[in-house]
Amino acid sequence: MLDHSHNRPTLPAEIARRRTFAIISHPDAGKTTLTEKFLLFGGAIQMAGQVRAKGEARRTRSDFMQMEKDRGISVSASAMSFDYGQFRFNLVDTPGHSDFSEDTYRTLTAVDAAIMVIDGAKGVESQTRKLFEVCRLRDLPILTFCNKMDREARDTFEIIDEIQENLAIDVTPASWPIGMGRDFIGCYDILRDRLELMDRADRNRVAESIKIEGLSDPKLAEHVPAALLEKLREELEMARELLPAFDRQAFLDGTLTPIWFGSAINSFGVKELMDGIGNYGPPPQIQRSESREIAPEEKSVTGFVFKVQANMDPKHRDRVAFVRLASGHFERGMKLLHVRSKKPMAVSNPVLFLAADRELAEEAWAGDIIGIPNHGQLRIGDALTEGEALRFTGIPSFAPELLQNVRAGDPMKAKHLEKALMQFAEEGAAKVFKPIIGSGFIVGVVGALQFEVLASRIELEYGLPVRFESSQFTSARWISGPKAEVEKFVNVNKGHIAADHDGDMVYLTRLQWDIDRVERDYPALKLTATKEMM
Ligand code: GDP
Repeated sequence: MLDHSHNRPTLPAEIARRRTFAIISHPDAGKTTLTEKFLLFGGAIQMAGQVRAKGEARRTRSDFMQMEKDRGISVSASAMSFDYGQFRFNLVDTPGHSDFSEDTYRTLTAVDAAIMVIDGAKGVESQTRKLFEVCRLRDLPILTFCNKMDREARDTFEIIDEIQENLAIDVTPASWPIGMGRDFIGCYDILRDRLELMDRADRNRVAESIKIEGLSDPKLAEHVPAALLEKLREELEMARELLPAFDRQAFLDGTLTPIWFGSAINSFGVKELMDGIGNYGPPPQIQRSESREIAPEEKSVTGFVFKVQANMDPKHRDRVAFVRLASGHFERGMKLLHVRSKKPMAVSNPVLFLAADRELAEEAWAGDIIGIPNHGQLRIGDALTEGEALRFTGIPSFAPELLQNVRAGDPMKAKHLEKALMQFAEEGAAKVFKPIIGSGFIVGVVGALQFEVLASRIELEYGLPVRFESSQFTSARWISGPKAEVEKFVNVNKGHIAADHDGDMVYLTRLQWDIDRVERDYPALKLTATKEMM
């Protein structure tokens, strides 16, 4: 749980201006379009459409794979940093498809807030709900953007009701739509008493903004047709009676979400939303570790790896570990302690992910996401510090629920397959088990589509066609306990034992009954469905 209390020392200005957040949505609600407009207004790209158009293979920075192009889904998360006014935004991209929830969950451990994008005609959809629940587990503050208001959308009260009922969170309108579909002309900005008028002729133009002195201001009638104005006044009156007012603390606690209405493709409502994140959103929050809480303003640098991505650039076989800085002021070249291996690590070429390209990070502050190229030393959950043996908590590990055998299409290339699999295991994209008897590998994932993603990546990145086939096993359990006892157990159950990519022993089976029996016959052993990440 994050602590959003206000009774904190004032943050150094560089930290206080940072906003680290993710966008969650159901596929097609408009996340990519919104991201693009963020980058446009953040000055990170010059023209909308650039992110998508640049190089046929990518839709956004993170969409670099064939699979993503084919299916139009975003598989891997990346981070983008840009300035907006006085603020530094770190937008962490979450993969959109339901089968990639593992990655998504971990991504959400690196942010302080989330924007929930919903389609004005469709309301709360399945994937929105799932992601929302993850945000709630962490009490993340959520800003809502109701998109596609330029099309026929649902009634405004209905949309708000649906969010309140479906997600059990209070909703307060930050803006109110005027007209709908073809008649949509813009929004009344409730938080700032302004009229925002959409420019239909130019999609990239920011709305005209008119200062309004309350609902009886005659200026309203100059810009809003009489029928729409009457409806607006009525609805705002009703909203004031029926819906809670904006309360920053409730928002920071995650119990109230402000909602903005807009049209990402028309650049409408986007700046208001960005102002909302800047002005009301949380600065970098306290992070938890096993021994203590880490405050962002602490002098010494700490951070944790929440994602590892390999082959970001097919020309360079590098791996990038994405690190969320939890505290301090990081400078390039710093020597940090890699807590798991107890080894120092000189971070000489960290990267910041600016939208246009990767850039060397000369410095970074608590709240920032930096990428550290490495050859596999950095794993998900790892801590980097200036010497303290910290262990961050809260990075979830997932039980592999689906197991399949994997075979190289070309048996001569089995070694390549092993290399590819080990890489994905390190990325946290899959669990890989090597049975101690026989050959081949068993791969464990959380969602079925992950097998396809893996097959596609192995072919693309290693030029190796592979086949996934059903396995005789359906469950995997990590074995821990006294060494002698583990060895004894392994020896009599060889046909069921495999090693994971760290060499740790795993018991494979298809029957819960087997697991119960082991627990009965070997009381000193512990069988667990997940493995500690750290
Ligand atoms: P994502 O799957 O959530 O990333 O959604 P995209 O940003 O790719 O958008 C899905 C589709 O909706 C695309 O065809 C967009 O052009 C379209 N779209 C996005 N925003 C708007 C909007 O404000 N109005 C309308 N009419 N279409 C939009």
